[in-house]
Amino acid sequence: MPDPNGFLRHPRRLPARRPVPVRITDWREVYPPAGEELIREQATRCMDCGIPFCHDGCPLGNRIPDWNDLVRTGNWDAAVASLHATNNFPEFTGRLCPAPCEAACVLGIGGGDPVTIKQVEVEIADAAVARGGLRPRAVPPPTGRSVAVVGSGPAGLAAAQQLARAGHAVTVYERDDAPGGLLRYGIPDFKLEKHHIDRRLAQLAAEGVEFRTGVNVGVDVTAEQLRARHDAVLLACGALAGRDTPQTPGRRLRGVHQAMEHLVAANRAVAAAGGGRPAPAVLPDGTPIDAAGRHVVIIGGGDTAADCLGVAHRQGAAGVHQLDLYPQPPLARDEARDPWPTWPWILRSYPAHEEGGERVFAVAVQEFVDDGAGNVRAVRIAEVTVEKRDGRRIVTALPGTERELPADLVLLAIGFEGTEEQPLLDQLGVRRNTRGAVDARPDWQTETDGVFVAGDMHRGASLIVWAIAEGRAAAAAIHAYLGGGGTLPAPVDPGAQPLAAR
Ligand SMILES: Cc1cc2nc3c(=O)[nH]c(=O)nc-3n(C[C@H](O)[C@H](O)[C@H](O)COP(=O)(O)OP(=O)(O)OC[C@H]3O[C@@H](n4cnc5c(N)ncnc54)[C@H](O)[C@@H]3O)c2cc1C
Ligand code: SF4
Repeated sequence: MPDPNGFLRHPRRLPARRPVPVRITDWREVYPPAGEELIREQATRCMDCGIPFCHDGCPLGNRIPDWNDLVRTGNWDAAVASLHATNNFPEFTGRLCPAPCEAACVLGIGGGDPVTIKQVEVEIADAAVARGGLRPRAVPPPTGRSVAVVGSGPAGLAAAQQLARAGHAVTVYERDDAPGGLLRYGIPDFKLEKHHIDRRLAQLAAEGVEFRTGVNVGVDVTAEQLRARHDAVLLACGALAGRDTPQTPGRRLRGVHQAMEHLVAANRAVAAAGGGRPAPAVLPDGTPIDAAGRHVVIIGGGDTAADCLGVAHRQGAAGVHQLDLYPQPPLARDEARDPWPTWPWILRSYPAHEEGGERVFAVAVQEFVDDGAGNVRAVRIAEVTVEKRDGRRIVTALPGTERELPADLVLLAIGFEGTEEQPLLDQLGVRRNTRGAVDARPDWQTETDGVFVAGDMHRGASLIVWAIAEGRAAAAAIHAYLGGGGTLPAPVDPGAQPLAAR
C-alpha cells in the first residue's frame, strides 16, 4: 500500500549535478547517482493516485506507481522486473527522456511538483546493473523465421530484442562502425556515457541478435539480397535529414555547418580518446569543426542545440550564443494553452545552459557575414515576430533591430526533414510522405508487404521513448506476420500521439 502522505512530508528533490567548473573539463555524465536514501524518499512521494495519468503520459505505458512503491519498500529486484516488463532500455530513457509522465503526474496539478519519475527510473536501471548485471534471458527454441532490422537506434534495438526473445533469428544491419544510432554518435557522453549502450548490446548478442556494422543497406547489400535472406524486414533508419537554410546569404561560407556534423565529429573524437583528452574534432575530410577558441553561434532551441552548447564549452569555445526564432516561453504552464496533463510549452533549461553561453530569443539570421576570404566572421540577426497563417509560419523582421554577433563557427540545429532519401527506399518500393517520413499501415507494414517501419523513420524526429515504444509494437506485428505463437506487447499503434487537449 503506497504512502498517501509521502508528498506532504517530502519536497521534490533531485541529486545535485556535478559542479560546472569540474564537469566542463571532462565528458562524463552530469548527474552523479542519487543514492538509495534520496531515491526511496522521492519514490515515497508517489501516492498511487488511482488513475495514474503518468501511464498515459509515457508512450511505453511504464507501470510507474508499481515500481515507485517497490523502490519505496526496498524491493529492488521486483522493481527491476516491473520496469523491464514495459521498457527494454530504461538506462537510456531514465537518463534522456524529457519525462512527459512527470508533466502528467497528479502532483503537478495547479503548479505542484511532480514525482521525480525519471530519476527513480534511472536508479532502478542502474540497480539492475549493480545487482548482477544485465543478464541475458533464456530464449525459446528457434522458430526458423528470420528478420532483418535496418538501423540500430533505440527503435531497431528494441524490436530486435523483442523478436529474438520470441525465438526469431534477428540480424541488425548498421552502416556506422558501431550500433546505437543517435545514442552512439549524436548524443554526447555528458548525457549518456557509451558503456551503457555496450552493456545492453552484449545482452542482445547473448540473446542471439547478430550485428552487422559498416553495412549500408541499399548500397553494400541490396534490398533484393536482404529480402532473399530474411522473412521480414524492419526499417528503423531514423530521421536524419537535417533541415538547412540554403536561402540565407552566406550559407556556403567556411565555418557554417549542420549541428550533426559537429556532434558526430565530437562524439567520434571522445570515443577515440577512450577516456583521455579528445583530439580536436574534425570532419571526415579533415576540416576542423572544433569549437576551441572560436566564437560559436548555434541556431535552434531544442535538444540538438543544447547538446552543441555543452560540446562547445567542453571543447573550449571563446563564447557561445544560442539563437531561437520564438519568444522566451513562460516559466510555468499556461493552463489555457496547455492544460494539465498535456506537455506544456515552458522555458526548458538543460544542464548545458548552466555551463555558460547566452540565449537570444525571437531573432532570425539575416546573413552569414564573410570575412573577405570565404570564412564566416559574424551572423547578422534581426528581432522577429512569428505567426501562423493558413497553417504556414510567417516570420517578420522588425525594422531597425539588426545587429551582428561575432561568429567563426555556426551550427544549424533547426530540426530534421524526415528520413534521408536513400537507394534502399526505391529498391524496396517505399516512398517518403510529405513530412519526409514513411507511412505505416495499422499493422506497421509499409506499402510493401513484409517490410515494416518504426521509430523516427515513421514518426519523424521524436524521442527515444517513442522509438522504443514503436520498436516494441512493430516487433509484435512482425511476430504475428511470421505466425509466431501468442502475442508480444504493443504499447502504441502507428497513429498514437502524445497527450493533447482536444
Ligand atoms: C543531437 C540529438 C540529441 C537528442 N537528444 C535526445 C534526448 O535527450 N532525449 C530523447 O528522448 N531524444 C533525443 N533525441 C532524439 C532521439 O535520439 C531519437 O528520437 C531516436 O534516437 C530515434 O531512434 P531511431 O531508432 O528511430 O533512429 P536513430 O537513433 O536515428 O537510428 C537510425 C540508425 O539507422 C542507421 N541507418 C540509416 N540508414 C541505414 C542503412 N541504409 N543501412 C544501415 N543503417 C542505416 C543510421 O546510421 C542510424 O544508426 C536527440 C536527437 C538528436 C539528433
Ligand atoms: S520513459 Fe519517459 S515518459 Fe516513460 S516513465 Fe520513463 S521518463 Fe517517464
